[in-house]
Amino acid sequence: MIKLHDKYFESYISANKLNTTIAKMAQLVYKECADEIPLFVGILNGSFMFAADFVRAYPGQCEISFVKLASYQGTESAGKVKKLVGLSEDVTNRTVIILEDIIDTGTTLEEIYTIFRHKKLKQLKIATLLYKPDVYKKGLHIDYIGLHVPDKFVVGYGLDYNGLGRNLSDIFTLTKPTMTNIVLFGPPGAGKGTQADVLKDKYALKHISTGDVFRYNIKNETPLGNLAKSYMDKGDLVPDEVTINMLKQEVERHKDANGFIFDGFPRTEDQAKALDTFLAEKGATINGMVALEVPEDLLVERLLKRGETSGRPDDQDESKIRNRFNEYQNKTAILKDYYAQQGKYYGIDGVGSIEEITERLTKVFDKL
Ligand code: 5GP
Ligand code: MG
Repeated sequence: MIKLHDKYFESYISANKLNTTIAKMAQLVYKECADEIPLFVGILNGSFMFAADFVRAYPGQCEISFVKLASYQGTESAGKVKKLVGLSEDVTNRTVIILEDIIDTGTTLEEIYTIFRHKKLKQLKIATLLYKPDVYKKGLHIDYIGLHVPDKFVVGYGLDYNGLGRNLSDIFTLTKPTMTNIVLFGPPGAGKGTQADVLKDKYALKHISTGDVFRYNIKNETPLGNLAKSYMDKGDLVPDEVTINMLKQEVERHKDANGFIFDGFPRTEDQAKALDTFLAEKGATINGMVALEVPEDLLVERLLKRGETSGRPDDQDESKIRNRFNEYQNKTAILKDYYAQQGKYYGIDGVGSIEEITERLTKVFDKL
């Protein structure tokens, strides 16, 4: 699974399969025009890899040239083809064999036929690596077809998605992440734990509380737990990498989960990026960052009240509480921007009864 821009792709045709397909095509073309020197014409940009591998596999002498046409924008065929670079060779009396990466609607192919219509060729043949029979609308003849593909957007091996993916050796196809992963945020005292408990059951998600994961690993003296403890004992911060590995392990322990609620992680942009990379490998992504927003004064009040009964010393000193709150604001501001830029930030009013807040969270979770 790979990510290009905003979309996910999974391998669909292996480099090996492409290789054998192209070797067969080259042999077949050679058999049918062995007594002359064909001019292969690759249609740029998409066909540059196919053209290169095709002529390398071609057993006889040949020439190769390129024209540049473009019709796609994003993942949709734009319907109109623009010629960007034309052919400079004299093609009179020649056998010209077009090398196309993919034939989709056939609009590009039509343009190719138009370009060569008035040139006095000996013959024009079309070879395409990929062909979408369900989409092809033109009756124009195609001489050589490598592989049939369904009506799906593909990238790789020369084909791009908005410029990216051309350098991939396999052909990939569009896919959708299957898990729902949510980063739950909120300052100390915002009621994250309470809400996570309700939401994990309602949406069958696994709640990963970073604090719990740490305590579990340290208590059970796992290798990562021991490593983390060695830093903590020295009074050092646990490096991101250790934290990330602990969370990865936790995700791997729940292979069949529908998704995760991450609580207390990520805390830095580096961690957020590491989490994205890790999830992308699993065909998943962070669907949203949901943040409980509570005014500072109200939180201070709540925490002081909690301190009266909990006995937690850090809940009893107002300046310490405000410090924690500031730290939270400073750190999460960066992450808020990180997720907001991807359109994934959801701020939730965290003032009200538990049920009222759950209700607000549910509205967002339903969308994700
Ligand atoms: P057509 O003109 O036949 O609709 O489309 C042909 C051109 O559109 C191809 O040469 C290629 O550049 C682009 N194209 C068609 N289908 C796909 C696809 O699934 N993925 C990508 N990346 N490009 C495609
Ligand atoms: Mg093309």
